[in-house]
Amino acid sequence: MQPFAFKLKHTDGAARLGELRTPHGLVDTPAFMPVGTQGAVKALRHEDVERLGAQIILGNTYHLFLRPGDELIARRGGLHKFIGWDRPILTDSGGYQVFSLAARRVITEDGARFQSHLDGSPHLLTPEAAVDIQSRLGSDIAMVLDECLAYPATRDTAAESMHRSIRWARRCRDQLLRLRTPAGAIATNGGQAQFGIVQGGVFQDLRDESADATVAIDFEGYAIGGLSVGEPIDVMSSVVGDTARRLPEDRPRYLMGTGTPEDLVECVARGIDMFDCVLPTRNARNGQLFTSEGRLNIKNARYAEDDRPLDERCSCYTCRHHSRAYLRHLYMAGEMTAGTLNTLHNLSYYLDTMKRIREAILFNAFEKFRLEFQRRADRLSLES
Ligand SMILES: [Zn+2]
Repeated sequence: MQPFAFKLKHTDGAARLGELRTPHGLVDTPAFMPVGTQGAVKALRHEDVERLGAQIILGNTYHLFLRPGDELIARRGGLHKFIGWDRPILTDSGGYQVFSLAARRVITEDGARFQSHLDGSPHLLTPEAAVDIQSRLGSDIAMVLDECLAYPATRDTAAESMHRSIRWARRCRDQLLRLRTPAGAIATNGGQAQFGIVQGGVFQDLRDESADATVAIDFEGYAIGGLSVGEPIDVMSSVVGDTARRLPEDRPRYLMGTGTPEDLVECVARGIDMFDCVLPTRNARNGQLFTSEGRLNIKNARYAEDDRPLDERCSCYTCRHHSRAYLRHLYMAGEMTAGTLNTLHNLSYYLDTMKRIREAILFNAFEKFRLEFQRRADRLSLES
């Protein structure tokens, strides 16, 4: 089986062009990972996702653990086989959803005790369990369990939480190393990589300490967690830039849960390689579309007789075949197809933006691309 590897191919300023090699194929970076919460990108078939150019999707461990269960998925040969997607998959640790969805959660040094949001059943998610569950799922990239800090948090709270996350990261790594020995093999994917997560809130000295301690544990890649939680955009940008600089050059860097197309461009400029976010898919289902001319809300009455496509510059299936008038009608009528067509377009916009970012880096034109992208975004926000 192809082991995990990262190749940095070219840099343009701090922006990086690279390639992830995983047991299920290559991913060109910078990459955007569509979110496939329950083993499916909502409203789409895998065939659509593949055709849009997505090379990797994200699965949510919390959801898959509760339903249908990681053991059931392991018996089906792992997540790839079970869902019928043979390209790379990244799974999160489940921690984020425990913090955001579960009822009655109690965090101790041991782990997170919580009740399922589905049926109230009690569970304990320890760092070791998060590794075991992802190992049974057999994703290509697994994440360590970390503590998700609410924003805003005091420096003391952020420090305490960050230190716990480091202790949990150590336990996660030890557990994975145990699983990799012949005696410990419960894995369905022997080439699974594990990423550590840098925490520390908006306090750069805590971020630095977290980055150094996480890098010392030695993971295949590093994520920056706990951002895009309500902090001002310039704070996020500066934390991302200063933290990315501290991470090893030869490992991929993943900014978790971010963001708008403008965020992606700004964070690529600060050295990030991987992104995931529910914005394109969730907004699509709510009728909010990303276009080269700004955001568009298809519910708006002004589109009732608009025969133009969502985005004249977009070549996705939706824009090639349908008018705003038709898409508005489908949305207003509550047709399922509205979610599908809108999601196709939004994901196409995100993935196409990533492709243009990669091309700009390759031709040493990323700074020019970034300035033009931001200038257009600023002009559009003034107009609206
Ligand atoms: Zn389109």
